[in-house]
Amino acid sequence: MSISQDKILEIRSKANIVEIISEYVPLIQKGKNYFGICPFHDDHNPSMSVSPEKQIYTCFVCGAHGNVFSFIMDYENLSFVEAVKIVGNKVGVKVDVEVPRINKNINEKQKKMFNIYDIANKYYQNQLNTSEGKRAREYLKNRDIDDEVIKEFEIGLSTKSLLTDLLIKKGYSDKELLESGITSSNNDKIYDTFSNRIMFPLYDIEGKVVGFSGRIFDDSDNSKYVNSKESEIFKKSKIIYNYHKAKDYARREKYVIITEGFMDVIALYKRGIKNVVATMGTAITSEHIGLIKKISSNVVLCFDGDNAGEKATISCSNELIKNNVMPKIIRLRDKLDPDDFIKKYGVDKFKEEISNALSYLDYKVNYYKNNTNFDNSEEVSDYIKNVLSELKYENDKVIIEIILKRLSDDTNVSVVTLNNMLKNEIITEVKPIEEKKKVLVLNKYDKAERRLIFYMLRYPEVIKIYDKNKCFFPTQSFRYLVNEILDYYKKYEQINIADFISHLNDKKELLDALSVVDVMNISDNYSYEEIMDYINLLNDYNIEQEIKRLTNLFKSEINSDKKTELAEKIAKLKVRENNEND
Ligand SMILES: [Zn+2]
Repeated sequence: MSISQDKILEIRSKANIVEIISEYVPLIQKGKNYFGICPFHDDHNPSMSVSPEKQIYTCFVCGAHGNVFSFIMDYENLSFVEAVKIVGNKVGVKVDVEVPRINKNINEKQKKMFNIYDIANKYYQNQLNTSEGKRAREYLKNRDIDDEVIKEFEIGLSTKSLLTDLLIKKGYSDKELLESGITSSNNDKIYDTFSNRIMFPLYDIEGKVVGFSGRIFDDSDNSKYVNSKESEIFKKSKIIYNYHKAKDYARREKYVIITEGFMDVIALYKRGIKNVVATMGTAITSEHIGLIKKISSNVVLCFDGDNAGEKATISCSNELIKNNVMPKIIRLRDKLDPDDFIKKYGVDKFKEEISNALSYLDYKVNYYKNNTNFDNSEEVSDYIKNVLSELKYENDKVIIEIILKRLSDDTNVSVVTLNNMLKNEIITEVKPIEEKKKVLVLNKYDKAERRLIFYMLRYPEVIKIYDKNKCFFPTQSFRYLVNEILDYYKKYEQINIADFISHLNDKKELLDALSVVDVMNISDNYSYEEIMDYINLLNDYNIEQEIKRLTNLFKSEINSDKKTELAEKIAKLKVRENNEND
């Protein structure tokens, strides 16, 4: 159940790390390297560099470091084998190893809950196809939800209270069913939570059903939608509707659309716009955003055109910006939701709206403008202040000028005055403290260890020198790392950092040690003498340590024979130490 080394090497060498990381994080070329926002820490400036030459990435703030496989593993939270498979697919090398999708974090209770939801999902789907489902099917048809969409989104129907009985017959206890939320109770009686509703399964990010939204479809005035209660597997702060399906489309299209609800997702999906997700009736959380960033950091918000949608757009944008995502905004005219908009204007018009999505700044300026009564000078003054307070975060001088010009046209205040006001805004703004770089004080032995490894990772000749003059590395992780380098070299007769990283695939401690060494900013050139100096220095250190140890033993030893023996050993070591220093 493992992939051959040859295949791993083949895939790694065919993959271009810059292209693959670009599918996740936008990269900009600076000199011979590429830079992007590091996805592994709360990054504000592009701190991650990607080297096409070495085929590795390195974050200078959090130390994240690795090759194309490590990136996918950490980003998508996958095993090494899964990461190799994904990269293999991208470069056209098929890997015929089955990867069981075992989620290590699922406990027995959760497993049962997933099974309950799986049974419920199938049951509801069957119900829709029975004669009892006729009215529901008509209702769906009238709303342009055809069989294909029903199948795709596994839409079903809850009828009379029969599901609970079925699950009890299958061996689930009342307690388990109540906890799952599929079943409710009243005066000791248990019954199906949902009845006579069209059932839309809600999925977790892996595509497993964890809840339902049941929609009423007759004319009774009960609440239109009822969602499953939160359970151990259904947590709204972690659920993004359609995430599992939108993932690939979003990566392909290089952006993702966020809508208000799951019906919007279905509405867009059935018209071929598939890179779309929704949160489940909660405000967006940083957890949601973390997940969304994994599929694309280009986010387009498309909430309903009404006032509630406007409020949601602003609060969602603020949360996204806090998490370093600058959204683009679509505001649909006539206060329509996406479905009604497309019905009225057609899907092409909607696509046009996507390509003309406003920058957040333009959106905010429009928003302030639309909410200003220009006959009221106080409101006009507020309008100016609000826009200027948005502008102080803008770095692009051209954009600032365009907006000031517009603001001037709207308010009849001169651009010069506006510009002065803006300067005052910026001055009063406290500048954020620069991220502190870790300062490590290294002694000469630390340096010798690191430099030796640094050159061994680049030059086979240095590995050979070391192999002939082996010394003991005082730091354990470096010691193991050096042994791995020797093993690797003996096997492949060359050294290549990107492949060496795959060789270390599950040894976190060694990968960390490697990243510490690899990012050192020292000359790429070495001399034989320099390498030998480092080796001698480490030998000195070890002798010194051994002398210290023996001296301590000598002091506490009472047996005179043993004392003499120790004294001789110490004397010999001191001679060696002096010789080596000559
Ligand atoms: Zn980082």
